[in-house]
This record gives sequence, C-alpha cells and structure tokens, in this order.
Amino acid sequence: MIDYHMHLERGPLTLEWLKKFWERAEMRGVQEIAITEHAHRFQEFYPVYSHLVSGADAYPYMEKWMAEEFKLHIGDYHALIQEAQGQGIPVKFGIEADYFLGKDELIGTLLQQYPFDFVLGSVHVLEKWGFDYSPDHGWEGRDLNAVYAQYIAVLTQAAKSGLFDCLAHLDVIKVFGHRAGRDYHQEWTGLFEAMAAHGLAMEISTAGLRKPVGEVYPAPSLIALGAQHRIPITIASDAHEPEDVGFQWEVAVGLAKAHGYTTVNVYSQRRPKELPI
Ligand SMILES: [Zn+2]
Ligand SMILES: [Zn+2]
Repeated sequence: MIDYHMHLERGPLTLEWLKKFWERAEMRGVQEIAITEHAHRFQEFYPVYSHLVSGADAYPYMEKWMAEEFKLHIGDYHALIQEAQGQGIPVKFGIEADYFLGKDELIGTLLQQYPFDFVLGSVHVLEKWGFDYSPDHGWEGRDLNAVYAQYIAVLTQAAKSGLFDCLAHLDVIKVFGHRAGRDYHQEWTGLFEAMAAHGLAMEISTAGLRKPVGEVYPAPSLIALGAQHRIPITIASDAHEPEDVGFQWEVAVGLAKAHGYTTVNVYSQRRPKELPI
C-alpha cells in the first residue's frame, strides 16, 4: 500500500517530525509515502499566488492567510527528504501545487527547477476565492451550479496544462456539503478525457471522510467514470498530522477494486510505475 499525499506543515521541517509520519505509515501497512507540501509554503512560489492579494476584489481572509504563508525554501525541504531517504525511509519528494488560469508558464518554470518525484495538481481557489477555507468565507449567496461549472472548468484546464502528474481530490468543491442542482456528467467526462490525453492519474483520497461532506474524493460515481477512461490512481490520506497517515486506506482500495482497478501508480523523478494492489 502507498500514501501519496500528506503535509508536514503543522510541524517543523525536521527528520524527527517526518519520522512520525513514516512510523504511522509502517504501523498501518503503508510501504511508500510521498510528502506533498503545499507550494504556498515556499517563498519561491509567491509570484504564482500574488494576484490573490491585489485589487479591490481580494478577500481580507485570503490576505491574512497569504501573510502567514511562503516562509520556507524548497531547497531546505528537498534536503530533508534526501536525509530521510538516506536513512532508508521510502519517501518521495512531492509537492501539491495550485493551478491558476493564465499562470501555466510561471508554474511550469518553477516546477522544473526542482527534482520532484511527484507533482500533485490542485484547485483550491476560484479567481481570488479560496473556497475550502471555511463554509463561512465566500459561499453565501453563490449560485452553486455556477460554482461547480467554474470549478470543473478550471480543473480541466489544469489537466490540459501538462504541469502535473496527478490531480488531487477531484471533487473537493463538495468539501462543506454544498451540492449543485445537476450532475455535471458531461463536464466531468471532459475532465477525464483531458486527463487521459495527458497521462494524468487521479487520487482516491480518504480526506473527505474527515470533512463535513463525509465522503471520499472523488465520489464513487466519478471513480467509475475515471475507470471507464482508464485513468490510473494513487491512494491518498491528505494527512496533516502523523495520526492520519494511511487513514482508512482500506476504504479507498475497496472502492478502487470495486471499479476494476488492480494497480496504483508510484512515481520517481516524475515517471510513473504501476504496483499491484
Ligand atoms: Zn489540497
Ligand atoms: Zn493536501
């Protein structure tokens, strides 16, 4: 088993802290992990996010959030992963990078500068609205159909950008339980077609089970659609604490197998390899 999505961000960039994540992985029978720190932890990525704090339509809570991020350097993060690998810990050097329309070139240039094993692409922000911050920030009065349509459209552009190896939590727009009035089958199909064309994987993430929505990402109906399009998968907890590493991975694997999956992808230097499950 693997867990290809977790964050050290609630602790320091130290081997001692990282080892707590690996210890929990081992305890749960997870054999390989990828640490996927958010790009917004690193100074180097500030230009990708700078538009979030400019203009009259910027959200004050996003400005506050931005002021607290971008404190670290990628070189220090890479050195920590190498130190862990040197001690025999099967950990991959990953990053979870936000996609923003029109910033493809900038994101691509930054990603190419570091020897990542695995690049996870995410959409957490629509224009300047960080929709997963809290249900009390920016959701009020929104047309949910328009929100879903915009979210899927941006994610589809992320797939077409060719910047990523895998897309994270495909339907995270449901995080707080907001549901659109229709099913968006055609739009999701467009996303999977773009993913297939660009060799992208999707993760089956148990993080949604810990959120108000109480459901895996993506929903079983989307796993079925992904399987139809032969989209490879990874397994993910999106742990932010050691306790959550490998969180309910049996649920994710059960869903994968129920939809015909027999392998998961692992990555080295951004090249995928299939492992049987
Ligand atoms: Zn995320
Ligand atoms: Zn994450």
